[in-house]
Amino acid sequence: MNESQPLAHLDGSQGEGGGQILRTALALAAVTGRGVRIENIRAQRKNPGLARQHLCAVQAVAQVCRARVQGARLRSRWLEFIPGKPQAGEYRFDIGTAGSTTLVLQSVLPPLLLAAGASRVEISGGTHNPMAPPFEFLKETFAPALARTLGRLDLELLRPGFYPAGGGRIRALIRPSSPGPGIDWTEPVEARVLRAEVLLARLPQHVATRELAVLRRMLDLHQEQLHVLQRQDTGPGNAVLVHVQAGPVQEVFAGFGQRGKPAEQVAEEVAEQVRAFVEAGVPVGPYLADQLLVPLALLGRGAFLTTRPTLHTRTNAEVIRRFLPVEFTFQEQPASGRWKVEVTASREA
Ligand code: AMP
Repeated sequence: MNESQPLAHLDGSQGEGGGQILRTALALAAVTGRGVRIENIRAQRKNPGLARQHLCAVQAVAQVCRARVQGARLRSRWLEFIPGKPQAGEYRFDIGTAGSTTLVLQSVLPPLLLAAGASRVEISGGTHNPMAPPFEFLKETFAPALARTLGRLDLELLRPGFYPAGGGRIRALIRPSSPGPGIDWTEPVEARVLRAEVLLARLPQHVATRELAVLRRMLDLHQEQLHVLQRQDTGPGNAVLVHVQAGPVQEVFAGFGQRGKPAEQVAEEVAEQVRAFVEAGVPVGPYLADQLLVPLALLGRGAFLTTRPTLHTRTNAEVIRRFLPVEFTFQEQPASGRWKVEVTASREA
């Protein structure tokens, strides 16, 4: 812990008021050595406080940086986290529910990317959850972007896990590097859909057939662009994934089957997201925008074009500014629906 700095005090109900405030705070506390106290954790969610996934993230970052922690209990709405020095190594974390493995990884990734040496992390839980990055997004979209900043992230899906059954597992190899070329993706792009995949685990084939029919029609795809991946070792579960090439980035958009939600609707919602993104002609979608902020802030520079920043992204930027000497600018590009997001080192730094 950096004793010269007072604890950062964060209000978990600010802005979007979800788990991201906690995860970003944990990651950056570990990176900077600055202790943090968070109140009103996830105040704007219908099940506020620490759920299993968040508690696992707290315990995971605490283990990685040998932190002293108070308030780390299920449903707790406050937390005090005093970090030590992050240590590279081999780690295994088990969420114990279908909570998102990719979100737990989000918290331990920054400290391990800045640790001395490579790490291997295995996390059990959900891998394809609503309201969280699906495994394919992390692998195809986020990891290549990350490689331009702080280091390499190699990912393996050992077993998919869906809500509510869980039982999934991912493995991440994290290899820190010297700072990369950074990200300067500020030109409009012509985006095109590469392929659509339906992940189907212990559910009838017609679910995939109906989803692909909708995607084919709405996104104007050919048969060779449509794929079904069946798994019998997990589930039940269903995810729809659409891969889009947008200049230097391969974006992955996702939707998830739910009991009582027609397959057509799952596919339509994904297709709408993809259409809006392709029409915008930007390299970075709304979720990648969210997730690029921490690595770009750690690098101290970077800029990209995206769609209108979400409250989630703006809240994330506010939390990052509490830990790192950076500024964020969000600038609407005239009459285009595009926004330029820029990260710069702040002048007082
Ligand atoms: P929160 O709701 O605050 O716990 O944060 C959810 C996180 O999941 C944010 O980092 C989002 O960017 C991310 N996220 C949610 N849905 C997706 C998706 N379909 N693809 C990629 N990232 C996602």
